[in-house]
Amino acid sequence: MTVAVEKYKEQVYKMSLRMATSGLVTGSWGNISARVPREELVVITPSGIPYANLQARDMVVLDLDGRVVEGEKRPSTEFMLHLAIYHARPDVYAVMHTHSVFASALAVARKPIPPILEDLAQTVGNGVAVASYARAGTEELARAAVEALGDRGAVLLANHGVVGVGRNLEEAFMVCQIVEKSAKVYVWADLVGQPAILPAEEVEALRSSYLQGYSLAMVRNFSLNERQ
Ligand SMILES: [Zn+2]
Repeated sequence: MTVAVEKYKEQVYKMSLRMATSGLVTGSWGNISARVPREELVVITPSGIPYANLQARDMVVLDLDGRVVEGEKRPSTEFMLHLAIYHARPDVYAVMHTHSVFASALAVARKPIPPILEDLAQTVGNGVAVASYARAGTEELARAAVEALGDRGAVLLANHGVVGVGRNLEEAFMVCQIVEKSAKVYVWADLVGQPAILPAEEVEALRSSYLQGYSLAMVRNFSLNERQ
């Protein structure tokens, strides 16, 4: 394997430990992948291994058709979901899937999260839609998730959880955290009053200034760290 792939195995492994202690997942649920630039390969967490027992060498390398290129473990059962997103979204280089509680509550109620907060509008865009229900690990779920995701940064999976995407692992992780926080704020706001939704022009302005300016330094800094 190339130096780049080895580096991404290490990065996905380290991010899986951060996700495991972030409160966004329970047990060995949840999964992460990163697309290796210029190599047409994806590094993904293995299936069903507790995070405490994981090692960087357990990460599985897939080609974009889902064939295992390297790794002794089975890839995450949601590998089709990850690959479908990479096929549909050339701008996406990392995908994180969690079962965080408030986002899952809204996914069970089949209620999208409207654009109610600045950070949600910036990192996700015009709210988080709910994909139609399909069983975990199926091609149907992958198709439904891609359709509901559109060009946004996250999607809720009906009666299941949330998927966040980004230009690198750091951004996908941040998106999952912001979606969970937004879900929590939305539920609370709905309890105490009528949540006010940001106007469409404001959401667009926030999103484009984030994509074109504010976030670039973050993406660049993370890439620099990755090269070390
Ligand atoms: Zn799941």
